[in-house]
Amino acid sequence: MRILFVDMDYFYAACEEVRHPELKGKPLLVSSPGGKSRGVVESCNYEARRLGIKSAMPVMDALKIKPDIQCVQADHDYYDEQSGRIMAFLKTFTTRMEVISVDEAALDIGSMGHDDESMLANKIKDGIFNEVGLPCTIGISKGKILAKMVCDSAKPNGIKILEDDEIRGFLWSRSVEDIPGVGRKTAERLGKRGIRTIGDLSRVNPVVLRDAVGSFSKELHDLASGIDNSVIIEHCETLSIGRERTLENPTSDIDRASDTLKALVGEVMDDLDKHQFLLKTITAKVKYTDFSDRIHSKSLSHPTDSRDVLLREATSLLKDLMSSKKARKIGVRVSSFTGKSKQKKLF
Ligand SMILES: [Mg+2]
Repeated sequence: MRILFVDMDYFYAACEEVRHPELKGKPLLVSSPGGKSRGVVESCNYEARRLGIKSAMPVMDALKIKPDIQCVQADHDYYDEQSGRIMAFLKTFTTRMEVISVDEAALDIGSMGHDDESMLANKIKDGIFNEVGLPCTIGISKGKILAKMVCDSAKPNGIKILEDDEIRGFLWSRSVEDIPGVGRKTAERLGKRGIRTIGDLSRVNPVVLRDAVGSFSKELHDLASGIDNSVIIEHCETLSIGRERTLENPTSDIDRASDTLKALVGEVMDDLDKHQFLLKTITAKVKYTDFSDRIHSKSLSHPTDSRDVLLREATSLLKDLMSSKKARKIGVRVSSFTGKSKQKKLF
């Protein structure tokens, strides 16, 4: 398997630089709501990073470092729109692709007959720039986790290809914290046992490792040995998940359709769980007894995987649709997915 991993560079801040070119070239941060008093840094450009400003830092602290830093409040609708354009472009290169987050994707390029990986990476990088004017970094290796690590090592604005016989050399000198999913706490637990580099990790007794990090140990040990069995979870084929069903008795009363609705929501959520997605957009659909149909959508302010939220929102959307005519068929569809960030799991 060959995986090409794309990660947009300083995505939100770069999006702001594109639509406000006057912000370019000077330190810039994108803040969460709350701005200068209560906000945190969601993204910042490299001019700001060079000063020591980082994501997740309170904006107040960034202002102490650079009092006149340019500060823009995050506009996620705009970033989602740019992300959609990038993902649609990437999808033209493979039938197997995983959208990992708003600015990251993994493409299975092994079976696509792309013989020159370097040429392909350049083509994708240039294509994204032409499409949205944004820089990205690309890493290629035999698995998703390795490709992400290779990508991280080539940031910003880079391309790096790791051949199978280079994997150990690449991995072993790196810190355990370079492994996606290994945070500061896990690194501390490993450090106490003398495990600091990925090379240390590859040589450690599995029992010691299990004692330090529990069930995470197998994945870590495998990776340190160059084994990367991470799989691509395709969701480009799954841009939405939906179910619809004919009602036993046509009705314009939402309460009388509630059992059917609950079943639909349950099935949609089971599917969503399988893919480890969070949903943001909910669409309800009604087919009436006169064979006309209508749909009604809503986007939530935050992604969710809650059955209760989906049931509540779908019920209210359907209620609006069923006010006049009798429904003979109802449907629920969810879309605008983001991946769940899993703890203790590499992806
Ligand atoms: Mg990024």
